[in-house]
Amino acid sequence: MDRKIIISKSKYLAGLQCLKYLWYQVNAREEIPEPGFTAQFIFKQGLLVSEYAKKLYPEGIDLGKIGDLKEQLVKTSELLSERKPLFEASCSFGNVYSRADILVPADIDRWDIIEVKSSTQLKEEHIHDVSFQKYCFDKAGVKIRKCYLANINNQYIRKGDINPGELFKKTDITVEVEEILEGIEDRIEEILEIAARQSPPEIFIGKHCDEPYSCPLKDRCWRFLPDNHIFNLYGNKDKATQLYNEGILSIKDIPDWYNLTLKQKIQLECAKTEKPKINKSEILKFINNLEYPLYFFDFETFSTAIPLYEGVKPYQIIPFQYSIHILDTIDSQPRHYDFLAEGAEDPREELLLNLRKQIDETGSIIVYYELFEKGVLKELAETFPDYSQWIDSILTRIVDLYKPFGNFHYYHSSQKGSASVKNVLPAITDLSYEGMEIADGMAASVYFLYICGNYDTGESCPAKEEVEKVRKSLIKYCGMDTGGMIHILRALVKEVV
Ligand code: SF4
Repeated sequence: MDRKIIISKSKYLAGLQCLKYLWYQVNAREEIPEPGFTAQFIFKQGLLVSEYAKKLYPEGIDLGKIGDLKEQLVKTSELLSERKPLFEASCSFGNVYSRADILVPADIDRWDIIEVKSSTQLKEEHIHDVSFQKYCFDKAGVKIRKCYLANINNQYIRKGDINPGELFKKTDITVEVEEILEGIEDRIEEILEIAARQSPPEIFIGKHCDEPYSCPLKDRCWRFLPDNHIFNLYGNKDKATQLYNEGILSIKDIPDWYNLTLKQKIQLECAKTEKPKINKSEILKFINNLEYPLYFFDFETFSTAIPLYEGVKPYQIIPFQYSIHILDTIDSQPRHYDFLAEGAEDPREELLLNLRKQIDETGSIIVYYELFEKGVLKELAETFPDYSQWIDSILTRIVDLYKPFGNFHYYHSSQKGSASVKNVLPAITDLSYEGMEIADGMAASVYFLYICGNYDTGESCPAKEEVEKVRKSLIKYCGMDTGGMIHILRALVKEVV
């Protein structure tokens, strides 16, 4: 007997990104890696945003928590006659099924769809998302008048309790949805045809593996590529896709005559010679500019859609941790200081208070990617004017260790086209972030929110021992960022002096 395949909104969107991914979603879900801790936490934050959006309609009825899919469909059709806002209302027609975040009665017999997103910008994938909903509801006999997107308003400033009316900005996307609806039946038909196949379709890898979302099957689909492959070419991926389509997989196989940028030419040269490229004069200039003592400095920060503290905007960057290593001479034993906020209060003023004690009046402050650290400091200066003069004085002392790598004055093939500290450290020293409990900034912010007990994701606070374990990992991670910078600088000095 033929099985009935149901295409939900998430499967439809997966199919638009890649039909192979869609096939796995329908036929071999167990082969799609589960999202990690960070992705799950971000997903829960999205749910929290939806909960705030429901507060826009206090008289609304929530169907999301009722039984299974079948019961939700029955309940939705029962409640439609009440003409009240419905949350998570569902509908099905033929092989399609959809839910709407919010369905609002419009006129005598029509409804408006409101799709809630935790981003601040309207994106093309949102229009596809809503168009699928409108198609399903229309087909199921629920007439849709208008479609809206409720995004986060990043100009909202928290004063007291969250005000959902100000937190969200609603955009009428009816026209865009109507435009994109053209051809939806053909797209659904194609998706159904692929989903019904016995084996996944042959789909080449390419930009679509990361757009609009990073595909969880990347490890599986990309594993045939050689180590230093052409998608590691610096810059946008059009050239890499073109090379891939011409059958060139490895950077070292790119013909010399190929139209490459200066940085890409350096990548090709390093791949062929198997040696790093070192621009000694530029690196020397960088080193000679440094003024001792050297302060190696790094912030860890978080930003949330729902502002946690008074006076904070959605997605405002909040520093909660820093690490400083201080060197009096290049070979001296470093002194180390750090700060990691505790509890649920706004950590910024205490952080500033500590920081001011630990940075003296002279010496270069070395960061990795100054735009970020300078941006955080400038925002702190605005919020805490008592510190603005001091912050202005340290801003002028900042030196960016990213620059020699970002400008490819030093490049090693193992950096794979990236100048991030995570790629540079193992390329130039024998250290790496591999195996660390917390190994990147996103994980650091998510773990901090997890232990700080301030983020209402509906979960209870972790036990004390768990909090201590996470705090140790956070301190180790941030310390690695600044300790690692010392090793990177020493390696550069060794190359040129
Ligand atoms: S990694 Fe790329 S090709 Fe493979 S399933 Fe995902 S999007 Fe498709």
